[in-house]
Amino acid sequence: MKTIDRSFINGEFKPTRGTDLFDLYDPSTAEIIGRTVLGDERDMLDAVESAREAFKTFSTTSVAERGEMLLRLHEALKKREDALVETAILEYGSPITATVGRTRAAANAFLEARETLRDYPFEMTAGQKLVVMEPVGVVGAITPFNADYGHICGKLAPAIAAGCTVVVKPSENNGLETELLCRCIREADIPPGVVNVVEGRGEELGPILCGHPDVAMINFTGSTRVGKEIAALGAGTMKRFCLELGGKSPNVILDDADMDKAVALALVIGFSNSGQACHAGTRLLVPKNRLNEVETSLKRAVAKLKIGHLRDADSFIGPLVSRKQFDTVQAYIRSGLDEGAELLAGGPGHPEGLVGYYARPTIFTKVSPSMRIAQEEIFGPVIAVMAYEDEGQAVEMANDTVYGLAAFISSADPDRAQRIGRRIRAGMVVVNDTIGAVVAGPAAPLGGMKESGLGRAGGRWGLETYLEPKVIA
Ligand code: NAD
Repeated sequence: MKTIDRSFINGEFKPTRGTDLFDLYDPSTAEIIGRTVLGDERDMLDAVESAREAFKTFSTTSVAERGEMLLRLHEALKKREDALVETAILEYGSPITATVGRTRAAANAFLEARETLRDYPFEMTAGQKLVVMEPVGVVGAITPFNADYGHICGKLAPAIAAGCTVVVKPSENNGLETELLCRCIREADIPPGVVNVVEGRGEELGPILCGHPDVAMINFTGSTRVGKEIAALGAGTMKRFCLELGGKSPNVILDDADMDKAVALALVIGFSNSGQACHAGTRLLVPKNRLNEVETSLKRAVAKLKIGHLRDADSFIGPLVSRKQFDTVQAYIRSGLDEGAELLAGGPGHPEGLVGYYARPTIFTKVSPSMRIAQEEIFGPVIAVMAYEDEGQAVEMANDTVYGLAAFISSADPDRAQRIGRRIRAGMVVVNDTIGAVVAGPAAPLGGMKESGLGRAGGRWGLETYLEPKVIA
């Protein structure tokens, strides 16, 4: 059993000064596999001081120097890919194929930022005036549990490209993953203080980081509830924010869709990352005249999903990350039943033969839009099927949410799908595909509307989050 008792500050692993302990579990067995000594205020203040000092010189480095650092970070992660993957399977419980994909995406975030950096005009003119894009300063990065490497690297890469220094407060659930990632960062030989990482409880360290006058910006990924708290905490020092928050994405199947394809896609979209995906399309909107057909097809398809056996290439669903997450998902399944929704698949408890924090992939039908399972983010493998009469009602139901992260549409007519997509208030609309279509290829803006967040990650949009324009006339 491993104990994580160091914080990564100023390029070194320093003994954590806090003393509280946090147990780490293998979610597929519910056995303890490690322990983290959580940092306290002193660790966080040391980290901010280190980032503040480092910013003085790092902010003056050239594009070429920062490009080299990004390349070294990419290579350091690639070198340790096998260990990173093993650690994420053990500690987070995600099946191997998805874990390899996410680990590679984390490493590639540095290459993408390097690419964006290469062509980015840090100086431009507005008439006779000079406009200079300057790094915003010290960035506080706070990340969730559902893709540790990806979220941390997704914030570090553009921050480093911009010339910012960073203090990361990762999720408490990912101690082993984060420690290994810090080893990669150290091996990449980045100037001390550019990246600092302190483990700790969000409620304790969040207010210190978000209220610190030497921190210019908070880049947060996590729940909308915590995002609102963070915005309030940072308001006193007028922080810049990028907030990537929760979702309850609609997946609209149009009446002209190939139903077998649309149903197969609906399961991938709804259950991706074992349901622990911010963009998961968990509100499945189906034309009333094809509801029976879709229900039959869903039942058949869900029975074929491979659950557990995390090291098998075709495994699709793993356990939830923690006991707490398992209990939350169970409570939502019970609330669906209590509110009168009908179970099409799954239900309370574990899948047969599996212990740990596995929940049963669950599909409710006869869901009405006012039910909690139709409105609240569950963050587990639970899909709510709702029927609509016509296109207008489908759009209305898709928009009937406080969230606006993603939306999915299946149709035989891409023009029709795009027309409907333009009417849905979401930051990312995907037609006949998974979220991978948005992430793949040349960088696009990633993020949400409404209570799904503020600001965008990805490409030049992501880089500009970390820059402040200054005009010199
Ligand atoms: P969470 O909001 O509970 O925690 C996220 C992080 O915030 C953790 O590091 C936690 O320790 C910290 N935190 C908690 N309270 C804090 C406070 N008062 N001040 C500062 N920090 C605090 O989220 P989670 O359960 O780890 O992750 C799941 C959530 O993340 C879901 O809502 C999901 O939709 C969201 N998410 C969003 C995206 C996106 O891109 N929009 C991506 C992944 C996950």
